[in-house]
Amino acid sequence: MTNTQDSLTQDPLTYPYAEVPAPGTTIEIAPGVKWLQMPLPMSLNHINLYLVEEDDGWAIIDTGIRGEETQLLWDQIIANELDGKPISRVICTHMHPDHTGQVGFLCEKWNVPLYMSYSEYYQTRVMHTMMSEGGNWKMSQYYIRAGVEQSLLDSVNSMRGMFAPEPDDTPIPKSFIRLTDGDSIQLGKHQWDIFTGTGHSPEHVCLYSKDLRLLLSGDQVLPVITSNVSIQPTEPYANPMQGWLASHERFKTLIPNDTLVLPAHNSPFYGVQERLQQLIEHHEDRMLILEENCIEPRGAIELLPYLFDRKLEGQTILMAIGECIAHLHCLISNNRIERTLNGEVYQYRSIDPTLQQRTRPEGHEPLVRARPEMV
Ligand SMILES: [Zn+2]
Repeated sequence: MTNTQDSLTQDPLTYPYAEVPAPGTTIEIAPGVKWLQMPLPMSLNHINLYLVEEDDGWAIIDTGIRGEETQLLWDQIIANELDGKPISRVICTHMHPDHTGQVGFLCEKWNVPLYMSYSEYYQTRVMHTMMSEGGNWKMSQYYIRAGVEQSLLDSVNSMRGMFAPEPDDTPIPKSFIRLTDGDSIQLGKHQWDIFTGTGHSPEHVCLYSKDLRLLLSGDQVLPVITSNVSIQPTEPYANPMQGWLASHERFKTLIPNDTLVLPAHNSPFYGVQERLQQLIEHHEDRMLILEENCIEPRGAIELLPYLFDRKLEGQTILMAIGECIAHLHCLISNNRIERTLNGEVYQYRSIDPTLQQRTRPEGHEPLVRARPEMV
């Protein structure tokens, strides 16, 4: 974006639905495609889920977070919104608990298969174990190297497991059917092409129907907010931002702009090409901000105020650190930042000689509200 004011005042995205589905009800998006919402217990207070009609029932796309509230709403939806047809299968776009939290409940209750990509299925199984674990020295080392004080780490560790499965939850199904990039799946009358993206999660599935001009985008392409692209202590030297940007460049070549995007958060929208470009530019701008503020070496935690415009507390600090380091790792891989260990803390310093020509003394687009939750 070359003009910040224009980008603020002329939103190129359009939202054809003024309303959102009330709890326990659906809105028909196209013949045989329905949209519903489930609650989330956080500032981002909802997730969008979708239903696609087949001859013998309805395919569910994503399932909602664990717990009885969502299960009761599912019972209501299935009783009142599916024209008496059963559930035929469950598809999960990716591993996060708001997408997979009810997959065991739904697959077991209806005795139907689960469809996921290979990485996301196994990551879901591992994640359910990890969410129940306490801290460990590798995790502490990762955050201490980011500049986090031990006292904060101790308090955050005590909050772990917020979304962890409870003993009475039905576990994720013991088998699945793999969804692979480049393949397609027939849901009812229409073929849906499988495009996978990475960065927010390892092998995130999106489903595109050329006939219906619809994209079920999960968290890979969201309006209004940016998806969490973050380093986790389990893989402290990963580079998810590079994959995220590459996925968006690739999606620009795959998805026509007359597509209605059905995202997992906020409302369906038109303008996918503009949104993909916005997201690329947003992250490139964040990376430039980091370069500008690393002329003198800085630790990750010192850089947070340049990326986030609100008070960060508890768990959100750790998520913000993960985002910040994801941007730094992408810069390191592009030879724009170097990292050195100073005592126990990593410091980051700008090393690219072209920074002077690229810098924006007039400022950057406003800091936006990044997603505080790992969903
Ligand atoms: Zn997610």
